[in-house]
Amino acid sequence: MHNADEMLAAAASRTEELAAPGLSPRPRRKVAVLSCMDTRIDLFPMLGLQRGDAHIIRNSGGLVTDDVIRSLSASQRLLGTEEIVVVMHDDCGLQRVSEDQFAQALAADGVRPTWRLGAFDDVEATLCHGLVRLGSSPELPARDHIRGFIFDPETGTLREVAKPGG
Ligand SMILES: [Zn+2]
Repeated sequence: MHNADEMLAAAASRTEELAAPGLSPRPRRKVAVLSCMDTRIDLFPMLGLQRGDAHIIRNSGGLVTDDVIRSLSASQRLLGTEEIVVVMHDDCGLQRVSEDQFAQALAADGVRPTWRLGAFDDVEATLCHGLVRLGSSPELPARDHIRGFIFDPETGTLREVAKPGG
């Protein structure tokens, strides 16, 4: 059940493959991708990405949080990205769970976090809300190219959700 030692050995066995001498930390395709951390989402083949192409930001849900704004702000202002793609998905672990029960479980452990779990029912509406928030965040100088997709892990298809008014 302990993966860390195997992971360390795996990395040690393929340093030649992992080394990226001369590869710029500035994303080649000037794009940042925000996605859910879900195990079924394999962003590189899904989006036709190669190492060096994009910044990848993942969290539970693929939600636009303060920390996502922080990372995107660094991505755009420090490392030159100009486009954002958000990938959420059907059958997300944050759907149909109770925000209140989760908060109560934390409270029972004496914790009152400053963040919320971000549970949601409607993935389209939640993605729309995230796109609107990104589009109105002055922390991000490049807001003309923001798109949102929903992945269906059962069929492997990606569908676009239109940004309201855009
Ligand atoms: Zn998810």
